[in-house]
Amino acid sequence: MESSVYFLDFNRISNTIKAMDKLLEKSISYIEPGSSIAIKVHIGERGNFTYIRPFFIRKIVDYLKQQKAKPFVTETTVLYPTGYRRNEEEIIETARYNGFTEEGLGCPIVVADGNDGEDGIEVISDFPNSPIKSIKVARKIAEANGVIIVSHVKGHVFSGFGGAIKNLAMGCTTRSSKKIQHAAHGIVFNYEKCNSCGKCIEACVFSAIEMIDNRPVRNENKCMYCGNCIFSCENNAIDIFKDGKERFQIALAYVAACVLKIIKPLVFINFLMDITTLCDCCAPAGNIITHHIGILASKDPVAIDEASLDLIDNSPLLPGIPYPDPLGKLNGTDSRIQIKYLEKLGMGTRKYRLIYI
Ligand code: SF4
Ligand code: SF4
Repeated sequence: MESSVYFLDFNRISNTIKAMDKLLEKSISYIEPGSSIAIKVHIGERGNFTYIRPFFIRKIVDYLKQQKAKPFVTETTVLYPTGYRRNEEEIIETARYNGFTEEGLGCPIVVADGNDGEDGIEVISDFPNSPIKSIKVARKIAEANGVIIVSHVKGHVFSGFGGAIKNLAMGCTTRSSKKIQHAAHGIVFNYEKCNSCGKCIEACVFSAIEMIDNRPVRNENKCMYCGNCIFSCENNAIDIFKDGKERFQIALAYVAACVLKIIKPLVFINFLMDITTLCDCCAPAGNIITHHIGILASKDPVAIDEASLDLIDNSPLLPGIPYPDPLGKLNGTDSRIQIKYLEKLGMGTRKYRLIYI
C-alpha cells in the first residue's frame, strides 16, 4: 500500500501562510484538546544560516494552539564538543541567537534530554540482527502526547543526507545514544600517513587519545565518537571504517525504529529549501545544490524521506552537482540505505502518492 505525502510546492503557491495552514490541516488528524505536543526541530548550530526559519515553526505552533493543544518546541544536546548546543543553557542561548524565542514562537522551548543530555527512556532494540542493543529516547519527546518531527532536508557527511529518519534517530535520543550510533562508523588511524604531530590529541576534549611509542592511540572506552579528531588531522590519517557510512545509516534506521516504538508521531514535516551539502550542525554547511523546492508532510517517515530525495533528483540541480542522489554522491555514500532499512524494519513504505495541496 502507498503512503500519502502532501506537497506544498513553492512554485505553485501565492500565499505561504494559507498554504502552510492547508498542509497542516490535510496532514494532521484530530488532536485531543489539552494534549502536549512536542515539535522537534534543529535550531541550527551557531554560524549556520540555512536551518529552518523560525517563522515556519511559529506557523505550526499557531495551528496547534488553534486546535487547543499545548505545543512546545524541543531540541536535544549535541555530541560534538565544538558546537554551542552542548547543554540546556547553550541550547536556549543558541536558539535565541538563531531567532527561536518563546515570545517569537508563542510557546516554550524545552531541551528534551535534560541539561546533561542523558535524560531519556530506554528502548530495547529487539529487531532481528540489530546492531544496537538499546537506546534512550529523550524524555520530553518520549512523554509528549504527540510529536511533530520537523526536519530540514540537507546533506550529511556520514549519512549522505538527513531528513525525518535522521531526526528521529539522532535528533530524538540522548547523548549516549548518539554515541552508539556514531560508534557504528568507527574511527581508524592510518599510521602510514601519520607524522605524530599530536594535533588529534589536542583536538580530543574527551582525552581519548594518547601518544604511545610515538603513535596516537585511541582509548575506545573514553571515545565519544564526536569525529573531532578526524577533522583535526591535516594528513588525513584518521578516518572511519571503509563501510562506515553504510554502517552508520543502518544504525540510524534501527535507532529510528526504536524511537518510533515509544513516541506518538502526529506527522513528519520535511523542508526542502536551502538544501546544502552538509548538515545544520556545520557553520556554514556548504553550497546550496538546487533551488527551494517546498515542504512535505506525511505520517510515514520512510515515504517522506524517499519523496524528498526523489524531488531533489527531479529538481534543477546547479551546474556540477552529481545526479542521481546528489547529496549521497557529494558525501560519498548512497543516501537511500537508511530509508531501505527502516522500510525493512516495517516502519513505513517507499511507495508513496504525492498529493499537491
Ligand atoms: S593529527 Fe593526524 S598526523 Fe597528527 S598525530 Fe594525529 S593522526 Fe597523526
Ligand atoms: S578520539 Fe576522536 S572521535 Fe573519539 S572523542 Fe576523541 S576526538 Fe572524538
